[in-house]
Amino acid sequence: MAKASHRGSCHCKAVRYEVEIDLTKGTERCNCSICWKARAWFAIVQEEDFKLLTSPDAMGEYRWVPEGKSEPFLTYRFCKHCGVRIHAAGDQASLGGKFYALHVPTLDDAHQDELAAAPLKFNDNLHGRPDRTPEDTRLL
Ligand SMILES: [Zn+2]
Repeated sequence: MAKASHRGSCHCKAVRYEVEIDLTKGTERCNCSICWKARAWFAIVQEEDFKLLTSPDAMGEYRWVPEGKSEPFLTYRFCKHCGVRIHAAGDQASLGGKFYALHVPTLDDAHQDELAAAPLKFNDNLHGRPDRTPEDTRLL
């Protein structure tokens, strides 16, 4: 499979976007403190493959500086009106440079079968080990 064009939005539609995404590359869940609270389910897309269709003013942002780090790893962007997270922006060579961890449930036109068929990867970021699956994934 290759990248396909999809549309997505927050709950109230104040934020709408278009994205080129290859869902066969899989989606991810993580056990870190913020992913746990936000129930994050994301897919990595390149910055240039994401196009915001609405005003950036509708989005708020949150920068989390993890303990022991001096600067934020990710900038989380969410709708100021309904609170739904759209993505987390970061810049990391191993993820292809500037990327967005796109919040998968905001995709409006991805078929459920397509999402269910995509490989789901679990990251043990709670223990600083994104390369391995957490011991317990039951509630992720
Ligand atoms: Zn909204």
